[in-house]
Amino acid sequence: MTNLYDLSDDDLKALFARWEMPAFRAKQVSEWLYKHKVTTFEAMTNLPKALRERLAAETRLGVLAQAAEQHSAESATTKRLYRLPDNQLIESVLMEYEDGRRTACISTQAGCAMGCVFCATGQMGFARHLTDGEIVEQALHFARLLESEGDRLSNIVLMGMGEPLHNYENTLRAIRRLNDPNGLNIGQRHITLSTVGLVPEIRRFAEEALQVGLAISLHAATDSERSALLPINRRYPIRAVIEAAAYYVQRTGRRVTFEWALIRGENDTVEQAEKLGALLQGLLCHVNLIPLNPTNGYNGAPSDPLRVDAFQATLSRYGVSSTVRVRRGIDIQAGCGQLKTEVLRRERRRLSIN
Ligand code: SAH
Ligand code: SF4
Repeated sequence: MTNLYDLSDDDLKALFARWEMPAFRAKQVSEWLYKHKVTTFEAMTNLPKALRERLAAETRLGVLAQAAEQHSAESATTKRLYRLPDNQLIESVLMEYEDGRRTACISTQAGCAMGCVFCATGQMGFARHLTDGEIVEQALHFARLLESEGDRLSNIVLMGMGEPLHNYENTLRAIRRLNDPNGLNIGQRHITLSTVGLVPEIRRFAEEALQVGLAISLHAATDSERSALLPINRRYPIRAVIEAAAYYVQRTGRRVTFEWALIRGENDTVEQAEKLGALLQGLLCHVNLIPLNPTNGYNGAPSDPLRVDAFQATLSRYGVSSTVRVRRGIDIQAGCGQLKTEVLRRERRRLSIN
């Protein structure tokens, strides 16, 4: 059955053309989907009853079924687990900041094929790509929640489960609909895509003439160290990743962000900060330093605060700006892939008790 959130404006028009309905029905339906964010076909009151019935019989209004939710008042973070029709589980997180930003962190794949050793999603392996509708719908649910409270979703980060550039086509379709004034109407500059560093896709993404923010997961400044953490580095080594980042800056004029999960005793020495500083010197970029969020499948710990400070001070000697980001919602397993791991563990325990 067609998920209406998988259809672009043109796809919707084509559907109504096939059904021999006037084209303006597409516009009406699109408004119900993205502007009013209705949850039933009955709510689409300006459509003839017969059309509502046909839509209800032949299409569906989204596919995400909420399977768990955790809210942390302390970190103003809401984490949701959704079940998809084929039983896959995906996560999204809403973060509410004091400056008013409301940021949805959404998934692009069920699982991930990249196998980064410290990542809970990587530890699960790859299940499948999400459709564009499944990506968009995660943001839509939070937008609906916020609007019911008189608030508004302001930012989107494609930093949940999965590697967005491995699911290039669907991710791009999703970005276009999230950005579309007739879609969720989130400004391109308020959308950020995070990638493990798929070089050809970064270059392709640079050609799309978008103003979307790009974040690249670096985590190490030498190829041997990076390959040990991020296996994809064997295919796309650091030099190629930095060149692709520079190309993105050149094409878009936008500053690129590099992410660095600080792992105690692994990648948090002053020497490593110097290597990173030398690597990034002169590039229009910023570094996000994120103390590691421990996961069951990886025997690593977050760096001590003093180490973090020394790392940051070293970067600034190279003229490289950085921010230390405390992972939000650590109390509710808000590291990507962690709520799913936790819920599956609970389910297995329940099964083995019964
Ligand atoms: N696949 C993309 C986006 C999803 S991961 C990517 O890798 O960039 C989002 C970010 O979380 C990445 O920077 C990733 O390296 C980081 N990350 C994954 N597991 C983490 C952990 N346990 N602690 C800290 N950061 C983690
Ligand atoms: Fe995939 Fe990103 Fe996790 Fe690596 S860090 S396994 S690319 S989701």
